[in-house]
Amino acid sequence: MRIHVAEHPLVAHKLTVLRTTETDSPTFRRLADELVTLLAYEATRDVRTAPIRISTPVAATDGVKLAAPKPLVVPILRAGLGMLEGMLRLLPTAEVGFLGMIRDEHTLLASTYAERLPDDLSGRQCYVLDPMLATGGTLAAAARFLVDRGADDITAICLLAAPEGMVLLERELADFARPFTVVTAALDERLDERGYIVPGLGDAGDRLYGVVG
Ligand code: URA
Repeated sequence: MRIHVAEHPLVAHKLTVLRTTETDSPTFRRLADELVTLLAYEATRDVRTAPIRISTPVAATDGVKLAAPKPLVVPILRAGLGMLEGMLRLLPTAEVGFLGMIRDEHTLLASTYAERLPDDLSGRQCYVLDPMLATGGTLAAAARFLVDRGADDITAICLLAAPEGMVLLERELADFARPFTVVTAALDERLDERGYIVPGLGDAGDRLYGVVG
């Protein structure tokens, strides 16, 4: 497993505003969107391409195009939806699948409650969108789900990650024969007793969409 923490002053600046309690939902959504596009740039460094011969108005030359099958972007519902537009801005021709996962507040275990994905993901590069890599349970379950369908290369894009989540992923995915990469804007200090990332940014879903009563 690889982790890549995006070291860039603009990422640090946007993340600081995102974390701040006073940042309202519209601003939070816009900043999350911008941050994801910056993270997507890092996350797609190894996206597969195929050679293509083209003509410019001046001469023939060699270029590249995205290889088939198309990359698959998988936002984890609900908070991952707030990352979709930012990702598609960079990969507009990607296909999109959805995975609904919920974390039990007491056991902190993740389970799947909805999915809309191709049955066969053979040969697919998958980009999983989940803003908070906290305990790591959701991401581990999502990665297994995708590999069971044949995905052969998975990159998770997270706004924040906690060390505890990274440890769990290392352990849970130790037998993974596929490349698995986490790209994040920051690796925070720890989780608190409720499973929230510290210092974190609070509940990402609530901050994106407001608290559902
Ligand atoms: N999910 C969140 O939205 N925030 C956290 O800090 C941890 C999990």
